[in-house]
Amino acid sequence: MRIISKAAAMQKCAQQWKRRGIRVGFVPTMGYLHAGHLSLVREARKRVGKNGKVVVSIYVNPTQFAPTEDLAKYPRDLRRDLKLCRDADVDVVFTPNDAEMYHRWGEVPDEPARGDDRLTGFSTYVVEEKLSRSMEGAARPTHFRGVTTVVAKLFNIVLPDIAVFGQKDFQQAAIIKRMVADLDFPLRIIVAPTLREPDGLAMSSRNKFLDAEQRAQAVILFHSLRAASLAVKKKPVSAARLKADLKEFITAAPLARLDYVEFFDPETLVPVAQVKRGTQMALAVFVGKTRLIDNARL
Ligand code: AMP
Repeated sequence: MRIISKAAAMQKCAQQWKRRGIRVGFVPTMGYLHAGHLSLVREARKRVGKNGKVVVSIYVNPTQFAPTEDLAKYPRDLRRDLKLCRDADVDVVFTPNDAEMYHRWGEVPDEPARGDDRLTGFSTYVVEEKLSRSMEGAARPTHFRGVTTVVAKLFNIVLPDIAVFGQKDFQQAAIIKRMVADLDFPLRIIVAPTLREPDGLAMSSRNKFLDAEQRAQAVILFHSLRAASLAVKKKPVSAARLKADLKEFITAAPLARLDYVEFFDPETLVPVAQVKRGTQMALAVFVGKTRLIDNARL
């Protein structure tokens, strides 16, 4: 397994593969890898075959964090991540730093630039303007601009034939698919299912922040998805009614506070008035100070 930290070296490696007709599967991550990430790696391997190459990027992208968010605290363990990648038969781990990604034309400031901060050596962004407005985009206004920009950069550096994203971040995957179609990136986006803990909690690097009591109550997200699924099994229910019921349901977990719950069309992300089987549901819940998200097709 090769570890590459320079964008130019990564791109050169990818161009050599391209010339030799080797297929490349790519899994972008922020590291602190868990079984969910590794399931994406397996999916990438399945798609490109044993003669193909699988690249995992590990980069905590500052531009998708707002100044008020947990960038400095975001969990990191590169040594452990590299071992997990090696064991998962990854060919290359791309580990750029902020200087490499955002400051190739300027000085690296002491503080990483995030949200609306001006980056000294960087002035071009990719902005998706429709699907990014609701839910995560409404709660975190500069988040998706950071995501689309860094993912576009990573695609240009890694030159993948396929890239695998998790359904866990449903809106993110929808936005990336839209970006790839709108901007004609020559690659295919695969969306892989959410891996869960035995009690149903979606695996996430942020689960590490939960203490024992919070961890026990964090399962309320999964239980909310299940309750909604059950509620619409026989007949449609109004979205307003279901939102009110779920808000009430979540008060059963005293450490949890609902940020949003939405019901929408899985393709267009347009909210629906009537929730029925096949409607997509997504929610964000603070458990203590940790903000968790989950979603499902009802
Ligand atoms: P992150 O490191 O959190 O940015 O996630 C990197 C990729 O892993 C994204 O495409 C996520 O959607 C995906 N991912 C995160 N958690 C899970 C999970 N529990 N199951 C499957 N994929 C996941």
